[in-house]
Amino acid sequence: MLAARGGATLSSDPVEFPHRYQKTEDIEAAAFVAASFAFGAVPQIRTFLERLFSVLSPSPHAVLVRARPLPAARTAALRHRFISPGGVHRFLLAVRSAYLRHGTLEGLYLSGMREGDARGSMARFLAFFRESWGEALPRERNFMFPDPYLGSACKRHHLFLRWMVRSGDGVDLGVWSSVPASGLIVPVDTHMARLAGCIGITRRSGADWRTAEEITEAFRAVCPDDPVRYDYALTRIGIMGDCTAKRPGDCASCPLATICRRGRAAGGGK
Ligand code: SF4
Repeated sequence: MLAARGGATLSSDPVEFPHRYQKTEDIEAAAFVAASFAFGAVPQIRTFLERLFSVLSPSPHAVLVRARPLPAARTAALRHRFISPGGVHRFLLAVRSAYLRHGTLEGLYLSGMREGDARGSMARFLAFFRESWGEALPRERNFMFPDPYLGSACKRHHLFLRWMVRSGDGVDLGVWSSVPASGLIVPVDTHMARLAGCIGITRRSGADWRTAEEITEAFRAVCPDDPVRYDYALTRIGIMGDCTAKRPGDCASCPLATICRRGRAAGGGK
């Protein structure tokens, strides 16, 4: 079990991987890789990322930007759910392109960031990777780098931004200095959408961009400078299997029981 810089326990969360590195450029590169592949079951994600980071060892940033791009043969055995070895390789080449063109991923994000336009900022950021990827494997490309204007909540990429921008809690990494935490959007997946519905901050059922905005606005009302502050704590409830989109957990011992409609109905939190 790995402890984060602030002492928090991070096993089961992909943020564990960037915490393994010391240099800012490795932390950023590892965070983008880890967040991008943070889909599927926790053990499956960990197994895949362990294998991918061994290919990128000892410095993910150095491997990505070195003069000769990583040969496709190095990822030939790497597959994560429906992302094929070819998709993994194209993903790495797209990240390499971002580094070669902009120097850092923060530089790329800033080049398209407009204050007050989280959707457009994210769209421009992810469009760069889609264009770098090219026309091959379009389904894999569009999943790895979705377009928020087509409705995607861009959960994994908001997770990446949270890690990069926030700091001080031992979980998030805080290596970016030019993007304000007040403009972050809550990373929303089915677990978060369901929990948000249970505690009454959204009536929407889908985990799409509008739901993410609605949930973010609710948190912004209580924490305007840091609307994603509670994301890690809330998503732990779903990720640890305590309460999932498919079934409620043990409401009697759940910390949300007094504000969750299902928890109150079950008599939890007394
Ligand atoms: S109170 Fe019950 S239904 Fe609500 S979040 Fe907790 S475990 Fe899930």
